[in-house]
Amino acid sequence: MIDDDLMRRLYPAERLAEVRKAVAEAGLGAVLLTPGADLRYVSGYHAHAMERLTCLAVPAEGEPFMVVPRLELPTVQASPAGGLGLEFVPWEETEDPYALVAARLPGTGTVAVADQMWAMMVLRLREAMPGVRQVAAGEVMRRLRMRKSAAEVEALREAGAAIDRVHALVPRLLRAGRTEREVGRDIAEAILAEGHVSVDFVIVGSGPNGASPHHELSDRVIGSGDPVVVDIGGTMPSGYCSDSTRNYSVGAPPRDFQEYYGVLLEAQEAAVRAVRPGAAPEAVDAAARDLIAAAGYGEYFVHRTGHGIGLQTHEHPYIVSGNTEPLEPGMAFSVEPGIYPGAHGARIEDIVVCTEDGAERMNTTPRELVVVDG
Ligand code: ZN
Ligand code: ZN
Ligand code: ZN
Repeated sequence: MIDDDLMRRLYPAERLAEVRKAVAEAGLGAVLLTPGADLRYVSGYHAHAMERLTCLAVPAEGEPFMVVPRLELPTVQASPAGGLGLEFVPWEETEDPYALVAARLPGTGTVAVADQMWAMMVLRLREAMPGVRQVAAGEVMRRLRMRKSAAEVEALREAGAAIDRVHALVPRLLRAGRTEREVGRDIAEAILAEGHVSVDFVIVGSGPNGASPHHELSDRVIGSGDPVVVDIGGTMPSGYCSDSTRNYSVGAPPRDFQEYYGVLLEAQEAAVRAVRPGAAPEAVDAAARDLIAAAGYGEYFVHRTGHGIGLQTHEHPYIVSGNTEPLEPGMAFSVEPGIYPGAHGARIEDIVVCTEDGAERMNTTPRELVVVDG
């Protein structure tokens, strides 16, 4: 159910020109993108990295082109990239695609290669273009990708609503006697049923496992009185990702858990309230952290407050101490403080978008602890 109109607005033809301008301003000769989030952002073409080279080149001067295996040409042409007026350079199985890229970029001084280009491809390009300096494209690409367009915000809103529908089902899946893995399997099914095309991660952290922020699933049997951290996300047909954490308890939770959960709720709220254009990401982090520290739980908040999100679950901007680059309208990121004392833990996570005067949450399910029958 891909909304064609949204897809056109998500991957507009003007983006190639924006990238070319950014490449020229950065003093680069060209940017080279292989399958991954950068390539999808620029062209709308979604492909998995493979040993055969697919490479979009956007030179500062001259026309952009995409070198693509002959057998994949129909797939590229059917994607949004087919409508960009982009030149495709198909290569046969016996040809050297690296030489094709090099031949079309004569006199280039510096090329920026996608941050996630395979080392094998980086090295083959280096051989094919001797004397050309290679740098990472991340700095140029992140500047473009950080500020989401109205269509991208719409796609994130859609992703947020889809993962919210999954969280709404979780109370029915959680029961004493079930394992984390059994619950996780049901959640993964629901992530797909609610509109995602892939399940990116499913964290069901019960009892002490909830105190390990990146615990995924185990065969631990959930018991009565266990708090459970559920952090889940997937990718929508648009390419945009969801990521949301809610906390559940099977039967009444321990008293000490209830005490810090109230602190965490306030901290998450305070951090979201700190989001506005011009605010430093580190100030958003501090808004949550100071409150948690003042309540005596500072040592148990062991990670940054958030990460950017878009075509990747983790991207710029990072909401972390030391990041002073001011927030701008359109920036999208998680606000997810956590407290992990050991016997259990909790994290509350929403994706928010910086607006003209504050923040809009993409996740709107209740953030209070959801107690299900033990
Ligand atoms: Zn994480
Ligand atoms: Zn997250
Ligand atoms: Zn998460």
